Amino acid sequence: MWTKQLLVCSANAILGVLLAQPVAQVRMLAVGDVMLSRHVRRIALEHKDPAWPFRKSASLLAAADITFANLESPFFDQGPPPPLNIMVFKAPPEMIEGLTLAGIDVVSTANNHSRDYGPHSIPFTVEHLKKNGIEPVGTGVDFVQAHAGAVIERKGTKFGFLAYAHDQRNGNWKELDPRVADMDIPQMRKDVAALGKSADVVIVSMHAGTEYSTMVHPIQIAFARAAIEAGATVVLGHHPHVIQSVEPYRGGIIFYSLGNFVFDQQPAGTDRGIAAETIFEGGALKSYRTLQIQIRETVPEVVTGTKTPN
Ligand SMILES: [Zn+2]
Repeated sequence: MWTKQLLVCSANAILGVLLAQPVAQVRMLAVGDVMLSRHVRRIALEHKDPAWPFRKSASLLAAADITFANLESPFFDQGPPPPLNIMVFKAPPEMIEGLTLAGIDVVSTANNHSRDYGPHSIPFTVEHLKKNGIEPVGTGVDFVQAHAGAVIERKGTKFGFLAYAHDQRNGNWKELDPRVADMDIPQMRKDVAALGKSADVVIVSMHAGTEYSTMVHPIQIAFARAAIEAGATVVLGHHPHVIQSVEPYRGGIIFYSLGNFVFDQQPAGTDRGIAAETIFEGGALKSYRTLQIQIRETVPEVVTGTKTPN
């Protein structure tokens, strides 16, 4: 009797091992600030190629299962291009070709340039991205859509994205526009909890910090850690235009600033960025590393990779 039971148990254990499938890995790559106006557009026009800024990085980005970027310039199809010497951005619709060439799946549209082209460029940008298969997060036709986020499923795991901006007014506006998600911690907690019901992993994008400073601002720390405490696994920071530190926190990972990706700036460090690579097995973060990016004449290229065990 005992022998028979032991044999059945052993057979079940062996069958369990044989049937156990390795959990599929999902690889996400996230890059920082992408601006498709001003000199980026001018140089692309010179090459008669709207996708020109992504020609040296597209294959790397497209190979990831999920690719994220912060879109710093709204799209709009009306009026002349803005003068090259002002801090107001507007990308013509065809400049989306670089994003689609690079297989970018989700972009944050919540930043200090979201409102650069007035009330109509926010819904135009959202629609234009969606029509081209890219999920915008952090802005929408109303407050609800701006805070709803987006869910992308890969290999059976659902990845939810939310995005927030520290300063949507940028010195140009008095009132807040509810169609841009602000970095309000109590509201973000509600959004993370709500999205967590339909996603296995929540990723929070944060557009904040001091421009051109490698020092992380207390506002970034408070918001990013609150996001992880609320249930997010990854925080993707951008806006300083230079690289800032990476912080493992309570089982999650915070990239305080990914630096630039496609941009045309002069200050020290703005010609570099990092691509944050995170590997998931199901809903679990297994590892992360950063890839070093060098930008030459607005065109980024990966130059090195550094493995960082979780
Ligand atoms: Zn910014």
